[in-house]
Amino acid sequence: MKPLTTHIKTDGSPLSLEEYERLGGYQALRKALGMSPAEITAEVKDSNLKGRGGAGFNTGMKWSFVPMDENIDTKYLICNADEMEPGTFKDRWLLEGHPHQLLEGMLIAAYAIQATEGYVFLRWAYKTAAEGIRRAIAEAELSGYLGQNILGSGFHLKMHLHTGVGRYMCGEETALLNSLEGKRATPRAKPPFPQVSGLFGKPTIVNNVETFSCIPHIISMGADWFRNLSKNPQDGGTKIYGVSGQVKRPGAWELPMGVTLRELIEEHAGGMKDGFHFRGALPGGASTDFLVEEHLDVAMDYGSVAAAGSRLGTGTVVVLDDRTCPVGFVHNLEHFFAQESCGWCTPCREGLPWTEKILKALENGEGRENDLDTLAFHTKALGPGHTFCALAPGAMEPLQSALKYFRQDFEQHIHEKRCPYGHTIH
Ligand code: NAD
Repeated sequence: MKPLTTHIKTDGSPLSLEEYERLGGYQALRKALGMSPAEITAEVKDSNLKGRGGAGFNTGMKWSFVPMDENIDTKYLICNADEMEPGTFKDRWLLEGHPHQLLEGMLIAAYAIQATEGYVFLRWAYKTAAEGIRRAIAEAELSGYLGQNILGSGFHLKMHLHTGVGRYMCGEETALLNSLEGKRATPRAKPPFPQVSGLFGKPTIVNNVETFSCIPHIISMGADWFRNLSKNPQDGGTKIYGVSGQVKRPGAWELPMGVTLRELIEEHAGGMKDGFHFRGALPGGASTDFLVEEHLDVAMDYGSVAAAGSRLGTGTVVVLDDRTCPVGFVHNLEHFFAQESCGWCTPCREGLPWTEKILKALENGEGRENDLDTLAFHTKALGPGHTFCALAPGAMEPLQSALKYFRQDFEQHIHEKRCPYGHTIH
């Protein structure tokens, strides 16, 4: 059962409104408009849908924090489509292939929180998706699904497409809000959470593309059905998983939540390429801790991956093989994070370039004995509770787990004064 992706065309072109309607599209919206907002939120909460952007917060619970006071003049609903987590390419599939499914999910969510302004905040580089979404918004407006008095219900929603500027930081929900307000994209202190004080200080919900795309199916088929699509009903639904690295068939697949890491790599990605062996994997994009061979049978759901010492994150696995230097691999990630730090808080602004510099020196055979202690210190000093947002703590996850699982490689770089894999960084 692949509710989100079954109907995506093989050439990846977007389903038109006609095609979507023929498949039952916008029936869930009709059903939702006959329900009360509270009933919709309760159904979504019961489905155990957790945020697919990476943090896994219960979606219905998030919506339930929005004040339903009728005196509030404007509430906002935002789709975070600024997919920039390294190794993550799952939302693009939905954005390009199924734009009306996303819009229908957003419409139902907007009705549930009584938001009248919606934004798709789209990654700048997703040009094809931008075209498809722009067209889908126009089609939905012409057909009465968007705009004033939607399907005669008295509910209004104006939808905007906003393309980002290509900064990772804009994906952080409060930096995204600042960016939409035309300000510098720095994160805000939380609380207050956006559900209470978000865009222009108004109640705002920010959810990911995959999260919204689940909503029409939850409303059509019910919370129980959705929960039980998963192998672990605590984390309901299906999940779009991905695998990249030296595997035979890198790609993305919609599967029941909770398939094992082994099944993903060996069955769906076809196993390692000939001549390469598995050493470890980041389970959900770059800002997660490595899992290693002993974790191959871990179920890829939020709870099980956390119990194994990492996070499901975006569910898009990045595989490390035995011919790639783990120090160079982590350096590459820290280079990205250092470049993408917004500079707002000191540990992140100063700590990430310092981390990157040490890793570069190690890789070039210029490492010193105390470097590993310094790196271990950084994993704490840049870790949770020391920064405004999750960027630096996320950046420390692959580093801290690499120091744990691949320590010998780090030490070998220092003792042999060279990269044993023959890698250098210029
Ligand atoms: P978070 O855990 O702080 O928040 C997740 C969501 O839950 C937010 O919407 C937040 O408002 C809400 N929330 C959390 N605690 C709450 C509370 N006590 N009360 C009310 N609402 C609450 O995580 P985050 O900083 O939003 O996201 C970090 C994640 O983003 C990382 O896990 C990373 O995997 C992921 N990420 C994804 C991408 C991507 O391209 N998809 C890019 C960067 C990071």
